[in-house]
Amino acid sequence: AEAQLRQVQKMEAVGQLTGGIAHDFNNMLAVVVGGIDLARRRLNGPRREVLNHLNNAMEGATRAAALTRRLLSFARSEPLLPERVDSSELVAGMSDLLDRTLGERIHIEVGLAPDAWPTYVDPHQLENAIVNLAVNARDAMEGEGAMRITTSNVTLAANEVGDVRPGEYVRISVTDTGCGMTPEVMERAFEPFFTTKPVGKGTGLGLSQIFGFAHQSGGEVGIESQMGKGTTVSIYLPRTDAEDRVRLHPAMQRMDNEA
Ligand code: ADP
Repeated sequence: AEAQLRQVQKMEAVGQLTGGIAHDFNNMLAVVVGGIDLARRRLNGPRREVLNHLNNAMEGATRAAALTRRLLSFARSEPLLPERVDSSELVAGMSDLLDRTLGERIHIEVGLAPDAWPTYVDPHQLENAIVNLAVNARDAMEGEGAMRITTSNVTLAANEVGDVRPGEYVRISVTDTGCGMTPEVMERAFEPFFTTKPVGKGTGLGLSQIFGFAHQSGGEVGIESQMGKGTTVSIYLPRTDAEDRVRLHPAMQRMDNEA
């Protein structure tokens, strides 16, 4: 719970930083563009001067690259430490955390498959993903309303959801009765830093992290939304029996080998 709170605080900090970072980044880009422009216009001038402008551009670009590297390592979540996870158990164990995070005015209904298939994922990242979805649901309902969290076993055909490969998945869905998404928002929702929330409130990193987590785990994320009615975001995680790790996504097999 502490870790989750820290995660939420970290995300808020990222949100506050984002505006400033964009500003710094723009300044660095201005140095790059300015340097190249000056060098281009002085091409027939003294070599030393041209080199000087190019060096300035290079320095600006290097600083910008360092900034985005820092930003990425800040935003990137901890490495995946996958283990066998029963999603229904995991969600059931989150009820206190969710109640505390969402407040009294959000009513949470839970519908858990009693026989959820096992998955092989990082349980902390899955918890963080669910907290993020629940916070998004709360925001979409302006702090008041009903949401539903469910787990179920599903068999998907190829590309039935996103780029999903055919097979058996555990689906964890968070449904809200909030504002819904416009087609434009739905299209961009997974983009890092895409947010419709005010500065300091939204980071635009929640769904992009969930997308990354699901894909690294061999799964997918799906969104269904209706304006004015509500939204369901579902995380699909591949069924993985312990003796059956070959089902793992290649990215996870690589991680397994590195561990
Ligand atoms: P953030 O919540 O910080 O804005 P996310 O990546 O989690 O970042 O979400 C990106 C955007 O997608 C949100 O700003 C919002 O416009 C939209 N969104 C996400 N979840 C929902 C939801 N449950 N209902 C309506 N819109 C949503």
